[in-house]
Amino acid sequence: MKNVTMRVCTLAIIILSGLFSVLSGYALQNPDNDPPVKNVIFMIGDGMGLAHVAGTIINQNYQPLNLERAQFVGLAKTYSANNRVTDSAAAGTALSTGTKTYNGAIGVDENRQPVKTILEKAEDNGLATGLVATYSVTNATPAAFIAHVESRNQEERIAEYYLETDVDVFLGGGAKFFTERRDGRDLTRELRDKGYTMVDNLEDILAFEGDKLGALLSGNAMPKMVEGRGDYLPRATGKALEILKRNSDKGFFIMVEGSQIDGGGHKKDAAVVFTETVDFDEAVGVAFDFADRNPGTLVVVTADHETGGLSIPSGKPDFSLPDQGVNYEFSTGGHTGIFVPIYAYGAGAANFSRVMENIEIPRMMEQLLNLK
Ligand code: MG
Ligand code: ZN
Repeated sequence: MKNVTMRVCTLAIIILSGLFSVLSGYALQNPDNDPPVKNVIFMIGDGMGLAHVAGTIINQNYQPLNLERAQFVGLAKTYSANNRVTDSAAAGTALSTGTKTYNGAIGVDENRQPVKTILEKAEDNGLATGLVATYSVTNATPAAFIAHVESRNQEERIAEYYLETDVDVFLGGGAKFFTERRDGRDLTRELRDKGYTMVDNLEDILAFEGDKLGALLSGNAMPKMVEGRGDYLPRATGKALEILKRNSDKGFFIMVEGSQIDGGGHKKDAAVVFTETVDFDEAVGVAFDFADRNPGTLVVVTADHETGGLSIPSGKPDFSLPDQGVNYEFSTGGHTGIFVPIYAYGAGAANFSRVMENIEIPRMMEQLLNLK
């Protein structure tokens, strides 16, 4: 009797969820019908935990984010090789190389040996490649995709790696590590000699018509959204996708970072967290739209770790008052060890709909891109 009731209930749930899918316009993806993956857009919200996403949605009165268009979601474990709480260098290296390493490491393993990154493998396979960030391009997350150094603090050395790879497009801050160097070199001049157009503002990025573009828009960090960064990230992301698509018939790999969500967590500043998350989400929308227009594009959005131990407890008991329903409370000024969300969209996206080690994410992308 109990069994029959359960079966009826299960059947009802299946029918109702099917009906809901139809009503909400959500077409279930059949992974078997996905076209082969040609382009990968890997998006990392630095420090963007689930509470950062939830808080951002609550803060805009439940207006949905682009992230909610994701067809598949998963969770990632972020711990590093030597710490249950990772930093952005070890996490970036895990996400770029598929190797857990020690906190502070950039593109090297626990024995300080270089490990090839997915971006470098993509280049070796003839794909176009790109990096877009809202902080310095020599900061830990983008650095982990292109450089191999023992410490994230070696930013002048990290800058040199932009000359040692064939990355097609890199956009962000960090000019001083290219031009105000202890060795007196001007790496922007050397990059121009190598064929790059080097620019320092969004208008020049958007007007660019060639194939190799570097943009260094600030000395070190770029301004925060609350300081007036504007719509640089979504627009620069759209332009980078356009350039990479033009540059290779074989496809491309790009990493786009919402770099400063993390800083909001460190400062325990909810306004910074939410404005940076909204900005990152605008870029996610650009990437999902690109995937809609270009079959064979996979977009994977995740975080390197959570920052701030953000929680959203009930605030004032009077929920009838706007803005008084919840509090945004940070339990630490550092990172935490909780799982982070994965949002996947487009070709191959079903493969990211599970609990994953962070190192499995680039490995799965390499497999889908069929990188040798
Ligand atoms: Mg970062
Ligand atoms: Zn951080």
